[in-house]
Amino acid sequence: MIVTRFAPSPTGYLHIGGLRTALFSYLWAKKNGGKFVLRIEDTDVSRNNEEAALAIVKAFEWVGFKHDGEITYQSSRMPIYKKYIDQLLDEGKAYKCYMSREELDDLRATQMANKERTRYDGKYRNFTGTPPVGVEPVIRIKSPETGEIIVDDGIKGQVVFQAEDILDDFVIARSDMSPTYNFVVAIDDALMGITDVVRGDDHLANTPKQMVVYEALGFSLPKFFHVPMIHNSNGKKLSKRDGATDVMMYKEMGYTPEALMNFLVRLGWSHGDQEIFSMDEMLELFSPSDINKSASIYNPEKLDWLNAHYLKNMSNDELSNALEPYDILLSSHDKKEIVLDAVKERAKTLQEMAELIKEILTCPSEYDEKGMKKGFKGNADEVLKAFAEKLNTTQELHLPSDYHHVMEATITEMEVGFGKIGQPLRMALFGRMSGPGLDEIMAIIGKDETLNRIERILEKIRQEA
Ligand code: GLU
Repeated sequence: MIVTRFAPSPTGYLHIGGLRTALFSYLWAKKNGGKFVLRIEDTDVSRNNEEAALAIVKAFEWVGFKHDGEITYQSSRMPIYKKYIDQLLDEGKAYKCYMSREELDDLRATQMANKERTRYDGKYRNFTGTPPVGVEPVIRIKSPETGEIIVDDGIKGQVVFQAEDILDDFVIARSDMSPTYNFVVAIDDALMGITDVVRGDDHLANTPKQMVVYEALGFSLPKFFHVPMIHNSNGKKLSKRDGATDVMMYKEMGYTPEALMNFLVRLGWSHGDQEIFSMDEMLELFSPSDINKSASIYNPEKLDWLNAHYLKNMSNDELSNALEPYDILLSSHDKKEIVLDAVKERAKTLQEMAELIKEILTCPSEYDEKGMKKGFKGNADEVLKAFAEKLNTTQELHLPSDYHHVMEATITEMEVGFGKIGQPLRMALFGRMSGPGLDEIMAIIGKDETLNRIERILEKIRQEA
């Protein structure tokens, strides 16, 4: 059975890049009927980790992920790590190192002056003498000094590291006996039965170290998939300046989880030139071995495009539920269908859609200047007045088409083109030239409010004349 994990360090929110890693891990486990577990890597952090975990779970809930089993907190596993430290010490695979901070600094300085790689020199590796007093030792693991370490990566292929270039007897426990990152990750992945480690390629250089731990403890290696980073359009690692990094911000901005998942799966993975993927299709088609070898580019327009696509394809019931957090309560509104049909193809996000609906429902408080000039050329105000009179005497006005008939009757009678009524009416109803269809707006706000808005703009023109 395939078991994958998502192993974030607690930050208080779920990062958009983290969500992509989680998505890839999740898809790979679930498509194979496997398990996807959540581990909070909180050995180094003293802040409230449960809150941080909760933030991740909340984001998972929003996008529809469920992790299997309980959340594992590394901070609660200290006795396990201690046991393995003791075991390695007993077996002579790890040792206490008494090098003081000053000594280490001196060593570094000399190595730098000699243009050598800075590294621990193995002074205490085979030490049998009397340890210096007053120095709390760290624990170092004996690592190969020469030879190749080959990471057989499912995305990058075989990545060859020279032991002498990257390994030294790295510290597995600090002088206060707190275990270090590469040590605990390897232990946890092994003990939690992780078969496939899917993570960012910023961790690739850690993998040889973790392999040393696997080897020393006799654990069998998982498969590794190191996913290339997400870059901005300048080829730099994605940062807050490029847009929201917190996943829940995307919810607030009005992106649907389906669009976000679709967006993320395409950041680094593709299937022919298909762009739209439902969760079911992702589960069917995804394989980590198809992930690109190079970084992917974060493109916010693409997310907007996808989101608009998903909004367009939502049912009006789904949309009206999704709009409730934006103070748009349509579920029992008698014009719900017309409102949503009027806006659903015009907004990139739920937030934009909510704004648009509010705009429709509120009488404009200001009018676009250029639009006024364009809309009220010639006898446009006369035409608008004639339309208002006709509307006033028309009885059955319900559907957009009912209002449309009145517009048509007006232009026929006045012998003018459609623009002569469309443009001033649009200014009256909406305050600017762009926006949803006039027939729909009138059907939504009704006859009285339509007349009210026309009267207001005519009054304004009279005053300014
Ligand atoms: N905790 C690490 C991070 O948040 C990830 C470790 C891993 O996936 O192996 O970057």
